[in-house]
Amino acid sequence: MMMKSNELIDNLNKMIPNPKCELEYNKDYELLIATVLSAQCKDKTVNQVTKILFKKYDIFSLKEADLKDIENIIKPVGTFRKKSIFIKEIANRLCSDFNGKVPNNREYLESLPGVGRKTCNLVLSNIYNVPAIAVDTHVKRVSNRLGLANKLDSVLTIEKKLMRFLPKKVWGRTHHQLVLFGRYICTSKNPNCKNCLLKKYCKYIKN
Ligand code: SF4
Repeated sequence: MMMKSNELIDNLNKMIPNPKCELEYNKDYELLIATVLSAQCKDKTVNQVTKILFKKYDIFSLKEADLKDIENIIKPVGTFRKKSIFIKEIANRLCSDFNGKVPNNREYLESLPGVGRKTCNLVLSNIYNVPAIAVDTHVKRVSNRLGLANKLDSVLTIEKKLMRFLPKKVWGRTHHQLVLFGRYICTSKNPNCKNCLLKKYCKYIKN
């Protein structure tokens, strides 16, 4: 059955009534760096390391920090050598270009190391309420299963399809709901289909 956008929105509102970003942060640059660290890594692990990292460093001391010390702190997130270099460079650039603030500027943010479109969407929507849909692995899987996108679609195509399908005012909220729906209900292995309110639209369980 072809789903209408309000059916997706209503059912997600019932299953995920209070969606929010699960990365913990207090400052704009903390979210940016946490999102860079979250590539190929669970939010829970990122939260454990950022707690230590941001207790020890702010954005200004981070640019002066010893690379080895950053590596030691962020080791659990994986690819930590590369991510440490990214963090230092991001701190450097933000301090010299925007006095340590994260600007509302997509082009600039995407020019930072380790920052792609997904990270940029997430940061802009959380910090500046810019309507955006960040397509991560959960959003991709859920969109495929619900027939909102095709298996071979690129993340950019999925993002465009979701933006066409959903009213702009819910982009940010629905994005968080899709992530959490994918993380806790429509999981990669053994999804909880029994309790899923979107079952009748699902292409996956019928195959
Ligand atoms: S029915 Fe199962 S596989 Fe389909 S969307 Fe719901 S949880 Fe995911």
